[in-house]
Amino acid sequence: MLFRDICKVLLEIEGKSGRIEITQMLAEIYNRLSPSEAEKITYLLQGKLKPEYYGIDFGIGEKFVIAALANATGYHENEIAAIYSKKGDIGETANELIGVKRQKSLYSKELTIEDVYNSMMKMASASGEGSQTTKIRSLSELFNSTTPPEAKYISRIVLNKLRLKIGDSTILDALSWAKKGDKTLREYLERAYNLSSDLGLVARVFFSDSENIGNFKINVFMPVRPALAERLNNAEEIFKKLGGCGVEYKYDGFRIQVHKRGDQVMIFSRKMENMGPIFPDIVESVKKLKHKEIIFEGEALAFNEKENRFYSFQETMHRRRKYGLEAASKSWPLHVYVFDLMYLDGKDYTMLPMQDRRKAIEKIFPFGNNLKLSEWRLARSPEDIQKVFDDAVGKRLEGIIAKNMRAPYTAGKRDFAWIKLKKSYGKAVDTVDAVIVGYYLGKGSRTKFGFGGILCAVYNEDKDVFETIAKVGSGFTEEEMAGFKEKLDTEKIIEPNANLSFNVKPDFWINMKYVAEIAFDDITVSSQHTCMEKDGRGFALRFPRFVKLREDKDIYEITTSSEVRDMFKLMKGARR
Ligand code: AMP
Repeated sequence: MLFRDICKVLLEIEGKSGRIEITQMLAEIYNRLSPSEAEKITYLLQGKLKPEYYGIDFGIGEKFVIAALANATGYHENEIAAIYSKKGDIGETANELIGVKRQKSLYSKELTIEDVYNSMMKMASASGEGSQTTKIRSLSELFNSTTPPEAKYISRIVLNKLRLKIGDSTILDALSWAKKGDKTLREYLERAYNLSSDLGLVARVFFSDSENIGNFKINVFMPVRPALAERLNNAEEIFKKLGGCGVEYKYDGFRIQVHKRGDQVMIFSRKMENMGPIFPDIVESVKKLKHKEIIFEGEALAFNEKENRFYSFQETMHRRRKYGLEAASKSWPLHVYVFDLMYLDGKDYTMLPMQDRRKAIEKIFPFGNNLKLSEWRLARSPEDIQKVFDDAVGKRLEGIIAKNMRAPYTAGKRDFAWIKLKKSYGKAVDTVDAVIVGYYLGKGSRTKFGFGGILCAVYNEDKDVFETIAKVGSGFTEEEMAGFKEKLDTEKIIEPNANLSFNVKPDFWINMKYVAEIAFDDITVSSQHTCMEKDGRGFALRFPRFVKLREDKDIYEITTSSEVRDMFKLMKGARR
């Protein structure tokens, strides 16, 4: 299929706001694609070429796109930069320029999806000396053959600024719609995605043999999407929800998913990046496990033997960066607290109850010096839960995770299989994890930093959109303020992402990428923000303060709008 035909539909989708309508339009596209095209379009809709763990990055900045546009259109780079700075969006800039080219291309052809994908792959794989020239040349060649809308989407994709209103959840719905005209296959598609973290692969397999999608298997070296924890506010609430349950310490480290086959080991972060090179000490220990194939999960954190205390995730990573991997692994060895098992020597454990998974990890761990087992106790009353919580806090850990012992591994979902209880919950100060959607310029003493605060949003799972909840102007150190501007500037966009709902505007919008932990004192009713009650009352965090960046968290793993609603009710109860 021609890429321009896809772009026509994307243009129409941009003008729509209803999720069902978008899903159906997307389903129509899918119905016209071969399995291999469906795979590639899925990745492109996700704004990538492969899942994160392939480590494929375009490595292209705005300057490259401008240079390629200059080659293809005959405009000078300065002219293009001027149009860009007026429009503020590289996609719209490309759209305009390709429409008014000053030169005719010597070689031009109608681009298929494969053509576009393969050229992008070529760009992304170019590395080392001469790679810049190769990247610009490949992009210029593409621009030589594009229509204006194609140029718009291509330039946005390579800069990772696609900004359509299409999240993974909408893609999963659309795949099911394409075959069935409803969402009946969504459950199987979602499971396949949860087991592989590879939505392109799922689309390809589905269009090759849709009847078999229910038989998708777990695979070593394909990361399982991590189970997510719900939050409740105290031991009573947890016990009311779960009854007797397993209660584990919540370690404030780095969540890792470990895959081993023979003596090959891969370690995935929560965002599915390949972390093996950063954790060589863990790789070495895992190699020694006697099991041939295993997938397990745990929290990694550095331990200071002299002081007999753990370092937090931030401290751990800081040391690894500052002192180098080898020195850091010697002086501050990492401990992994294993808390789950997904696969062992040919057997898929994800559908087995937590109880059986726990028994299985207890047979394998602790192992060697650094593969430990998470501290776990069976709770038969709210008091039992409270006791583990108090112990954890006494050890300077952040809290506990209670686990439903009958639940399977709820990959990619919350579902109350795991419930977290942190020190801060239900207290005068609580926290949310929110995505940064924009930033404000500094005033007064902050003028020198060019940064005065951030606008943050939470995730509405039902609508697959992000909703603003707070403007955060305090809690930043001077060092953070200076660093923030630099970091956020590379992500600036003129229009916010289409899947963001907002009433207030920051000075600059940014691509939704960074997750921040925000502390606050209360939740109030406000018309400023779009995170709201069903009756249309909006919520806002009262006295929001920046705590830290959660670089380990993906934007879809942040606090949800329904969690905010629950917190509001709870805090209201406490206020009476
Ligand atoms: P949060 O990051 O606040 O949403 O809390 C969930 C995270 O706690 C998980 O993603 C893990 O990284 C971490 N965690 C720490 N200890 C445990 C444990 N014993 N079981 C499960 N997750 C844990």
